[in-house]
Amino acid sequence: MSLLVSIETSIQHKGAGTSNLRASDTLENSCHPQAIPYGGSSLMAYVVTVTCIGAKDRSCVEVCPVDCFYDNPNAELNTKYGRPAKGTDVGMLCIHPDECINCGACETECPETAIFEDSGVPDDLKEFVKMNEEATATLSDDQLDDRRVTSR
Ligand code: SF4
Ligand code: SF4
Repeated sequence: MSLLVSIETSIQHKGAGTSNLRASDTLENSCHPQAIPYGGSSLMAYVVTVTCIGAKDRSCVEVCPVDCFYDNPNAELNTKYGRPAKGTDVGMLCIHPDECINCGACETECPETAIFEDSGVPDDLKEFVKMNEEATATLSDDQLDDRRVTSR
C-alpha cells in the first residue's frame, strides 16, 4: 500500500480530517472537540522514545500530515536518561496519541530511530508509551497550540 493510500485509509478509518480532530472523535461530536474526553481510544498510534532526548532535530514534523508532534521541554528527562540537551532545547518531542493517524511516515524519517508504533515499542522503552500520552493529556487547547511543533 502506498503512503498516500495508507494516510487516506487511516484518516477514513479514524474519522479525522484535520489536526484538530482526534482519533476518538465521531462524526456526531467532531464539531465539538473540546467536549471530547481525553483518551479511551483503542486505535494505534506512534510513540517517541529515548533517543529523541538530546536530539530533537524535528525531521519527523516535516512529514507528519496531521501535525501531532508536541514539545515536551522537560529538562529532567535529559538528566534522567543521561542525554544532554543541545543548547537550551531540553526534553523531547512526543506524539499526541489521539491525533496520530498511524501513517508511519515519521518512523523512517527519524535519524535517531526514536519512533515506534505503540504495539512495537521495545520492552525496555515501554514507559515512553505512557510518557507520550501524559505529555499532552492535561493541556488546554491554548497550551496544545503553544506546544505543537509543525513545519509550517
Ligand atoms: S526526528 Fe526523531 S529525534 Fe528528531 S525530533 Fe523527531 S522523534 Fe526526535
Ligand atoms: S505516524 Fe507519525 S507522521 Fe503519521 S500521523 Fe502519527 S505522528 Fe504523524
